[in-house]
Amino acid sequence: MTLSTPLSRITSIGARIAPALEKLSLHTAGDLLLYWPYRYEDRSEILSIRELKLGEKSTIQGTVKDIKDIKTRGNGRRLITKALIEDGTGTLQAIWFNQRFLTRTLKPGYEVFLSGKVDDSSYGPQMTQPVYERATKSGDQATHTARIVPIYSLTSSVTQKQLRYLLKKVLPLANSIQEWLPEDIIKQYDLMGINDAISRVHFPESHTELEKATRRLKFDELFLINLRSARVKSALQDSRANKIQFKEKETKDFVDGLSFKLTDAQRKTAWEILTDLEKNKPMNRLLEGDVGSGKTIVCAIGILNALLNDKQVAYMAPTEILATQQFETFNELFKNQSFSISLLTGNQALIKRPDTQPEKLSSNKLLELISDKDVDLVVGTHSLIQDRISYQDLALVVIDEQHRFGVGQRSALSKKSSDSTMAHFLSMTATPIPRSLALTLYGDLELSVIDQMPPGRKPIKTMLAPPEKRGEKYAFVHEQLTQGRQAFIICPLIDPSDTLGKKAVTEEYEKLKRDIFPDMRIGILHGKMKSADKEKVMNEFAKHNLDILVATPVIEVGIDVPNSTVIIIESAERFGLAQLHQFRGRVGRGKHQSYCILFTDSTSKETLNRLKALVETNDGFELAERDLEFRGPGEVYGIKQHGFDDVLKIAKLTDYPIIKDVRKIIPHIFAQSPDLSKFPRILKRLSQFEKSIHPE
Ligand code: ADP
Ligand code: MG
Repeated sequence: MTLSTPLSRITSIGARIAPALEKLSLHTAGDLLLYWPYRYEDRSEILSIRELKLGEKSTIQGTVKDIKDIKTRGNGRRLITKALIEDGTGTLQAIWFNQRFLTRTLKPGYEVFLSGKVDDSSYGPQMTQPVYERATKSGDQATHTARIVPIYSLTSSVTQKQLRYLLKKVLPLANSIQEWLPEDIIKQYDLMGINDAISRVHFPESHTELEKATRRLKFDELFLINLRSARVKSALQDSRANKIQFKEKETKDFVDGLSFKLTDAQRKTAWEILTDLEKNKPMNRLLEGDVGSGKTIVCAIGILNALLNDKQVAYMAPTEILATQQFETFNELFKNQSFSISLLTGNQALIKRPDTQPEKLSSNKLLELISDKDVDLVVGTHSLIQDRISYQDLALVVIDEQHRFGVGQRSALSKKSSDSTMAHFLSMTATPIPRSLALTLYGDLELSVIDQMPPGRKPIKTMLAPPEKRGEKYAFVHEQLTQGRQAFIICPLIDPSDTLGKKAVTEEYEKLKRDIFPDMRIGILHGKMKSADKEKVMNEFAKHNLDILVATPVIEVGIDVPNSTVIIIESAERFGLAQLHQFRGRVGRGKHQSYCILFTDSTSKETLNRLKALVETNDGFELAERDLEFRGPGEVYGIKQHGFDDVLKIAKLTDYPIIKDVRKIIPHIFAQSPDLSKFPRILKRLSQFEKSIHPE
């Protein structure tokens, strides 16, 4: 047998199931060998029958005392096979339905393993439809029970047992696969060798072994994806950027002047950015950090250094409200510096010069000031990439929540500098979302992760509320408001004609004002409002002249009002987990315990389960993973069109530690051999890999 032997020629089982395996694109022994389990069941712990606990999935080993078929009568005529198994501590009854050959496979006197859920019967403990396997005569490892058992994704006409049987046959071929990673990388990153990794991922003997095997195989996938993009990138990368010298003293003073201490994660990511900025190659970095992890201050440190180097900086936010808020934040942060900071959106043009009040301008005038470099930092929306704009000495571009911008827009902005250099580029995001992750995988972005929250944050308590709990929850919110806190209420856009949410928000407002919170001050925010009005409402809310803000999902990102402790989301089932998590990030920003209430009328078990994930975890990355589980990678990350769904068989888009390792190694490889000729095995593996990717 070789890797290219057709599965139909491997034993009679192979012949029987080969047609079904074709449908899974499994044609040869090699295909099967590289078909990874999608999950595992731990059946490694063998219990004695006496130790069994009702309701738990367990594995026992015992002797078949008796086994017989019983035919039921009546309309649901079925064949039931009953067996009695004994292990010296007790007797267990096993029953199976419609397994005609079982009495031929398991005979009295045989030693067997059974794995299944334990329930109760008049005969004592019972397992219904347990997985069974004869205990081997020679002491070989069991395949289906009494171990960590691999589970494969299969079509209905192939059983797990058949597949495992066939895999066991082809498994020795794992040794014929050539190691393609250099010895020193394997050593340095403590990777399992490829032969072991392949055979152990199918039949691990322990969790540690499984973990190591999985890590190695993930490493391979991520390594290849990144290697490929690095090659593409190095072919493209001839552009130059302005070096931004690190102003150590000023930076230290700036950080010391903050009202809080930076977290280690903020320090580290800020340092990564500063290091990039000092190079004459354009930085291309993605800063990822959960909502509230403090990304603004990290980018502000980079901005500060660029401005102190007398360069221009552009900061682009996805919405006007956010742009306005960040404009104010930067003015506050840089109040002791002598920078001119401007705000440019579709509706607003403001400039704030040192020691003066913000001044309103026509946008033409502001554009002029920008191109004359009378403005140091330009904060804005999409207006920052309009045709008419031209920058002077633009050295750094920051884009917040970049998934809302297209790739094209992004590069448009980096190219708007007047000279031949490219601006350094930093994008920021709170969720592992489609485009930015696809980009990560393309490798044109370096990754910095803020994996730590500022101290003292209390995790937000999330509650799922069916319609009958509405009154109770409103009472709870009322109590919070009475204590001086504030609340957000998010209404989804229900009516298709109501694209800007005016109707949804207005109706909700009227209901709340009339029936629920007549004694509270309520404001509304929707997309039909003029930006000046929106801003006014936001300010009123920030100043606590409003108790409740009823809004469309536009407030999803960024708004910072630490006194708000409750967020209610109406029709929560309409949103993805990542998006709900973003909403939730609007609260929990101050010292008070915060709450997120998810209203839903849905009774679908699946929907409720999905929403429950939010109750269970506050970790944005984990939620993104769950989104993946529920909706599949193609849908969630839009990666289908990038061809990655065929490539990421075991690695996940969220395997950051491995992604980081891989990206550390690749530059070394290129440094040693730009055309990879010194690494013929890597080159060969890469070309196989490239063949497996669909053209983009
Ligand atoms: P996000 O990552 O969601 O953009 P922000 O940058 O808006 O988060 O920060 C959220 C809040 O946390 C802000 O009010 C900010 O001032 C505060 N903050 C940031 N870093 C720290 C820190 N190290 N310690 C305490 N508070 C911090
Ligand atoms: Mg932010």
